[in-house]
Amino acid sequence: MEVGYKKVIIVKLAIAAVGLILTFLIVKRASRSVRRKRLLASPFPAEWEQIVEENVPLYNRLPDAMKRQLQGLVHIFIAEKTFEGCGGLEITDEIKVTIAAQASMLLLNRKTPYFPKLHTILVYPHTYVADIVSSNGAVQISGRSIRLGESWQNGPVVLAWDSVKGGTVNITDGRNVVLHEFSHQLDQEDGIADGAPILEHRARYVTWASILSKEYEALQKKKGGRAVMNKYGATNPAEFFAVATETFFEKAKQMKKKHPELYDELKDYYKLDPVEWQ
Ligand SMILES: [Zn+2]
Repeated sequence: MEVGYKKVIIVKLAIAAVGLILTFLIVKRASRSVRRKRLLASPFPAEWEQIVEENVPLYNRLPDAMKRQLQGLVHIFIAEKTFEGCGGLEITDEIKVTIAAQASMLLLNRKTPYFPKLHTILVYPHTYVADIVSSNGAVQISGRSIRLGESWQNGPVVLAWDSVKGGTVNITDGRNVVLHEFSHQLDQEDGIADGAPILEHRARYVTWASILSKEYEALQKKKGGRAVMNKYGATNPAEFFAVATETFFEKAKQMKKKHPELYDELKDYYKLDPVEWQ
């Protein structure tokens, strides 16, 4: 076979392969979007409704249309993500629905890729102890850390079921481990955990950065006294966004009063106004 002829065949095969891959991706995307539309419109099982009403008090505050929207999001979450029980915990509908409903609160009213990097949620029965190795300049510090939950970039979200339940019972303390860890997932969607999730327009980043960094520094400087936001938010910008998210949902009124600019930024991002639900 002549070299030129061989080349033509290789090029044609390569074009055919690219065409096949593209067709496969387009079909996969289309069927996923059809499946999601079907899930969004699926009836919500009565047992699930009972679980969210009992375990997710925030749900009870939502306007009816938003409740229906959340039910659809819960269907998608449960269909697309895998739950794994750790430390002998058996995964039940209660665990899945309670976690899915709270995580999905963060997706309401928004165009969302549904936590695209997340495939698995690992659930431990109790607050667990994890080995940590952190780098402090040239020194590596190893130790043990008590964890309520964690969110890995391109990896799983890890939660302790007792913390999940504890966090939902009191919805005015500004602490909710599910909202916290899943807001980290939103932050990590662009590949960097820096407290800036993907915003709708490029121009929005300037205001976001200026308001959040100002509030972050203020929280760092705050000494004693009562604060609306948990001091853990002063750890780094990523934790600040996660703690701000918890506060936004659970202490909306106080946040709007004491940190109106921060509240407005989050209201704009989450496309929600939790003050109206109270
Ligand atoms: Zn965190």
